[in-house]
Amino acid sequence: MAFLRVVTRWPASSKFACATPGLHRHALDPPGAAGTALRSGFLPLTTSSAVAKSSAATAEALRGGSQTLGSRRDPLDATFDDAHAAYKSKTTWEILRAYIVYTLCSSNYLVENNMKIMKVAKAILGEKIFTAIMKSTFYGHFVAGEDQIRIRPTLERLRSFGVKPILDYSVEEDLSQEEAEKREVESSVSELGDEKVQGPPPAEMGGTMPQFHVDKTFADRRYKVSSARTYFYLNEATCERNLEIFQQSLQAVAGATYGTGLAAVKLTALGRPQLLLQLSEVIMRTRQYMTEITALTAQANKSSPDDKGNIIGKHIQPEELQQKLQQACKLSEAPVKKFLQNVTYDQEGLIHLFPWSGIIDENLELSETFLVPDMKTGKMVRLLTQLSSKEEEMFRNMIRRINVLAQTAEDLDVRMMVDAEQTYFQPAISRITLEFMRKYNTKKALIFNTYQCYLKDAFNEVSTDLEQAKRQNFYFGAKLVRGAYLEQERARAAALGYPDPTNPSFEATSESYHRTLTECLRRIKDLKDKGKPNMIGIMVASHNEDTVRFAIEKMKEIGISPEDKVLCFGQLLGMCDYITFPLGQSGYSAYKYIPYGPVNEVLPYLSRRAQENKGILKKIKKEKRLLLRELIYRISRGKIMYTPKGDYTPI
Ligand SMILES: Cc1cc2nc3c(=O)[nH]c(=O)nc-3n(C[C@H](O)[C@H](O)[C@H](O)COP(=O)(O)OP(=O)(O)OC[C@H]3O[C@@H](n4cnc5c(N)ncnc54)[C@H](O)[C@@H]3O)c2cc1C
Repeated sequence: MAFLRVVTRWPASSKFACATPGLHRHALDPPGAAGTALRSGFLPLTTSSAVAKSSAATAEALRGGSQTLGSRRDPLDATFDDAHAAYKSKTTWEILRAYIVYTLCSSNYLVENNMKIMKVAKAILGEKIFTAIMKSTFYGHFVAGEDQIRIRPTLERLRSFGVKPILDYSVEEDLSQEEAEKREVESSVSELGDEKVQGPPPAEMGGTMPQFHVDKTFADRRYKVSSARTYFYLNEATCERNLEIFQQSLQAVAGATYGTGLAAVKLTALGRPQLLLQLSEVIMRTRQYMTEITALTAQANKSSPDDKGNIIGKHIQPEELQQKLQQACKLSEAPVKKFLQNVTYDQEGLIHLFPWSGIIDENLELSETFLVPDMKTGKMVRLLTQLSSKEEEMFRNMIRRINVLAQTAEDLDVRMMVDAEQTYFQPAISRITLEFMRKYNTKKALIFNTYQCYLKDAFNEVSTDLEQAKRQNFYFGAKLVRGAYLEQERARAAALGYPDPTNPSFEATSESYHRTLTECLRRIKDLKDKGKPNMIGIMVASHNEDTVRFAIEKMKEIGISPEDKVLCFGQLLGMCDYITFPLGQSGYSAYKYIPYGPVNEVLPYLSRRAQENKGILKKIKKEKRLLLRELIYRISRGKIMYTPKGDYTPI
């Protein structure tokens, strides 16, 4: 029966499957219509006759742990112009609703004033009618349901059409700008004051680094951001509440998705932003410090002094570091000895200057940890700005919360994906996530980090972290995105006078994305050749067709198949179905980012979805064109009452 497992996706004669619309068998068509696909030049498909019904499949098969015999696979139209494939998981009413929603999202007035309109409508219509209207329009289109039970039918349907979920409990506080700014400013500064780093001359440690200090003008982190949720710190109790919500989300993934899904997590929900800011600043200062050391030792090793920040890539040996340090200080002095004892090496050289594993496992005092010998005076200097003992405790609380989450993910055997946020938090978020990966990703990629390719440093960041994963032998999971905070990042950098961290153009961002993805795939191929391809798992989280095509083409070129289960795709629920569903139905690992939560509490999320959709008119135009095509098809064939029933099993 082995032949049943062989699913050929590439057409015999072309780079991608034939793009001619209408050639694929439509879910609404009689079975004989499948022949059209064969006549079009596609290689034979597995057919639905042998489908193992998902309800009867075991949880392991649902997880994609084993290829379910006979699960249906369609050829992929990589132009993503196949309306049938895109919408056969939808009822005709859902198609019409999607069309109406996208049309409304194109109205400037509605989008600009949507929050006001929703509030007025609620006041006039009353809670019940308003909720019903929302459910049959925006909420119904973009949100899966109120809670983990009510989202099940949506998840079941997605799964039967080959698509898996990333769950995100999308309840947001509807804060005024004033309240958001107030909270952010209060929670971003130490109770000891916003003191700049002590000791060394600023230039040698990276200067004043204004990016890691709160500025009231940009304190409302929602500024010009439409595609991401924002948490504003209130107190430790709200962080505990957020922890519970994330845990419930992990449980929902375990229960409602049979563990096939992922849960999305944001670290800013779990602790005081001040701690992420200070930790980020320390990380950047450490890189600056290392740049200084490597500039002086550059000739003695393979690295370039211009190769900023990439400590692990410099292959610095213990003797080299000691040699350098002894020019400035006595290695026998107790604090220098202690510093050197905590440095992490492997046979290839230096990995970390500080005991990061200790920071996530033990109760290390931060202010005692981030001390380095100053290269000019030899004295130990603190890289961390002031932190009170109460704030130290808050830091340990935040780490404990992440530990609880990671442990829950491990106990439930479900994957957790940490979102990327603003650049002033990101060094800390990324470092903490990577250390949790090292701790928990010992048997599989359980924890995923996120990398924003609109950042100039994206390629270096990913390469460095891949290198750490390789050298410390843990599974590496990453979601690659372009990035959601472009305008805010640029405006803040310009206003506060630090270099713009983002790429200068959309093309440069795409180039960065594709280069980074290629590097991941290259490493996956190396590992595949050594018999362990799944040490790296990548999600291409993008609505960009070119990027999705690029990934598919690269997989093919490099020799990685969907069955290797090392690369998956992710789009938001209610956006770009014409990409997600054809991918899932043709055997690629495809995910929808699924928001859920009570109607009234996801209004800010809906508001942002409306705004984001307005900004991507080209994609909306295509979505509307395809929706209309499917609608006309169903009406003309008298299939208005069509009931979607999928017979696919996600890989
Ligand atoms: C499943 C999923 C998870 C996500 N998680 C995160 C996350 O954790 N963190 C996060 O930040 N974002 C996240 N995003 C959002 C993502 O970063 C993008 O904002 C969004 O998806 C648009 O990018 P695109 O590739 O889909 O589409 P496109 O429309 O092709 O790209 C738009 C993006 O290109 C970049 N860009 C546009 N113009 C320029 C320019 N002039 N110069 C430089 N760059 C430019 C910007 O990043 C912009 O958002 C996620 C998206 C998805 C689908």
